[in-house]
Amino acid sequence: MMSDLNAQAIKKYGNSFLKEVEANVEEGEWVKMCMQCGVCSGSCPFGPHWAHPPQEIFMMIRAGKREEVLTSDSMWMCTSCYNCIVRCPRKLPITHIMHGLANYAHRLGLAPKNQPTRVFAKMFWDNIVKTGRVNELKLSLGLYFKDGLGPGIKTALAMKDIGLGMLKAKRLNPLELVKGHGCKDTKGIHAMLKKAREIEDRRKGFAA
Ligand code: SF4
Ligand code: SF4
Repeated sequence: MMSDLNAQAIKKYGNSFLKEVEANVEEGEWVKMCMQCGVCSGSCPFGPHWAHPPQEIFMMIRAGKREEVLTSDSMWMCTSCYNCIVRCPRKLPITHIMHGLANYAHRLGLAPKNQPTRVFAKMFWDNIVKTGRVNELKLSLGLYFKDGLGPGIKTALAMKDIGLGMLKAKRLNPLELVKGHGCKDTKGIHAMLKKAREIEDRRKGFAA
């Protein structure tokens, strides 16, 4: 089922995907400056393994390939190495655009559901937002067991030496699983994030 936000975006921007990106994606106004030289794709360590390296993504945006771009897993593969940014002759903030596109696709409900980076990013966000501080133990266990009990036990056993080392160095506290370690004003954090989202949606012309 199409998300409300996605339906609103389609209604608002029609066939102009470039305009949509310029208005809603971090640094999206830079996309039109790309001259398709291919330096970014050639510099990207993951370029050959992506369905669509940055140069291609920017070309697809300008060609109006909205669904192909927003459902792609390519933006989620960016490791923020910044190779592309330092080499782009037009100085496009490519890394930020890639992350901005991933974030926008996620908000519209179009991002690939099981893409590993997206799964981790969502787990991290949910974890930190809950109490205002990240609970590393819960996050690690959630990640290990996300595909079920069997794979979880296997991963936990494979990582046991690192875990024990962290316990010894007091970098891991098992009690955090029970008592947690949130910040003092969790409600305040939630209210602040809600307000920030409302302001951003208003600025972009979406209903809050
Ligand atoms: S290096 Fe810059 S100008 Fe060249 S294709 Fe990549 S984004 Fe476009
Ligand atoms: S910052 Fe991202 S897109 Fe740019 S070269 Fe590195 S991995 Fe590739």
